[in-house]
Amino acid sequence: MARWHAPRSNDGNGAPAQGSVFDLPGWTPTREAALAQLRRVDPRAYGRTRNSLDGAVTRLSPWITHGFIDLPEIVDSLRARFRVNTDDKLVFELAWREFFHHVWGHQGEDILRDIRAPLAGVEYAATLPDDILTASTGVPVIDATVRQLYATGYLHNHQRMWLASYVVHLRKVAWRAAADWLYGHLLDGDLASNHLSWQWCAGTFSSKPYLFNADNVARYAPALASQGTAIDAAYPALDELARHGRDAGPESQRPEGVEIPVLLGVAPAGEFAELDARAVNGRRIALLHPWSLKRPKQVDLVIGVLHAPFHARFPWSERRWRFVIDGMRQLADVVWCGDLATLPAALDAADSVQAVATLNPGYREALDDERVELVDAPRFLDDPAQPCRSFSQFWEQVARAT
Ligand SMILES: Cc1cc2nc3c(=O)[nH]c(=O)nc-3n(C[C@H](O)[C@H](O)[C@H](O)COP(=O)(O)OP(=O)(O)OC[C@H]3O[C@@H](n4cnc5c(N)ncnc54)[C@H](O)[C@@H]3O)c2cc1C
Repeated sequence: MARWHAPRSNDGNGAPAQGSVFDLPGWTPTREAALAQLRRVDPRAYGRTRNSLDGAVTRLSPWITHGFIDLPEIVDSLRARFRVNTDDKLVFELAWREFFHHVWGHQGEDILRDIRAPLAGVEYAATLPDDILTASTGVPVIDATVRQLYATGYLHNHQRMWLASYVVHLRKVAWRAAADWLYGHLLDGDLASNHLSWQWCAGTFSSKPYLFNADNVARYAPALASQGTAIDAAYPALDELARHGRDAGPESQRPEGVEIPVLLGVAPAGEFAELDARAVNGRRIALLHPWSLKRPKQVDLVIGVLHAPFHARFPWSERRWRFVIDGMRQLADVVWCGDLATLPAALDAADSVQAVATLNPGYREALDDERVELVDAPRFLDDPAQPCRSFSQFWEQVARAT
């Protein structure tokens, strides 16, 4: 599990030095690494400590997002080792992921727009201010979170919630702009979990804005305590600020900013295959996309595919590109990059073509082709046919059936 160090000040303002707060191991893009991490997960410790930044969270999300392991096998593995049921916190959190995908399945790209009206009368900026982007707001918990994001591509759930609440409600940035930015830097960036969580914090996918304060940070992340800053207020005052306030701005005492890592809208230079009709002729082909990185069985040729228009629209950090392309190269015989809409026709000579269904825009439409045999993405819970508007509605239906 992550070791959590007290921040070392490097600038006299109490801000932690870059990379000093969390000593997180990297994520190796292999199934073996994911399974090794899964074996370390203890749902009892998770239930007791998961809210703390140094709690026993699983850190499985980069592997889950990219399909190295799936939720049914995680739940099976937990059940084989522990007495686990639907009351377990970990099962409940895994269910949130399936709920967000349920909503995505019904609403498609509408999840990228306000699901409910935003707070009336508040003006939100279309871009993030430099002090947030460079981790120099002067609020220790926010600056440490942004530094950690850039240094590792991973954040604990509480950090994500605090960051979203600060950015939207205190700094008055439109949730969509901030969600796109966070998505690009996360190793586990998932359009449904990310954008719907931002909407949940913003109040456009929940009944009220999500608020937090310095006492909450002191409880779950004492080393990042942020007393004396804009977040050091009582909840009624924060609610008033969220609904009627203006951009609180950065603190007067601020650390020096960090460099902002670039987000790349094209795959980093590397070898990509051309598709050769002779190579596919009469063969059973599997297409692996970035969310299905698991070696399929009983096929003759595995082609890793990167749909360039999706990536131009949702750029990724170099770290995430490396994670995905390295993982894909180990599983696929060749990796292809281009407009996926042209691919099924190029595979006409194949005996069969299979792929795992995905909801990611562009990939979803291109793979929905009669020549491609689509396998459903694995779920551990039922996917109710009728759209559920809230997690509790979803949970009531699926937990009953489990
Ligand atoms: C603003 C914001 C943005 C987020 N963006 C993403 C994202 O892009 N990708 C992503 O996978 N999760 C996202 N989450 C949800 C959650 O924060 C992460 O799944 C979790 O922190 C990943 O770390 P972990 O694997 O150690 O989680 P654990 O706490 O160990 O949970 C185990 C697994 O359960 C699932 N899970 C847990 N909590 C949630 C949740 N609240 N919502 C959905 N799934 C959950 C994840 O698959 C996670 O890997 C976001 C949450 C917020 C508040």
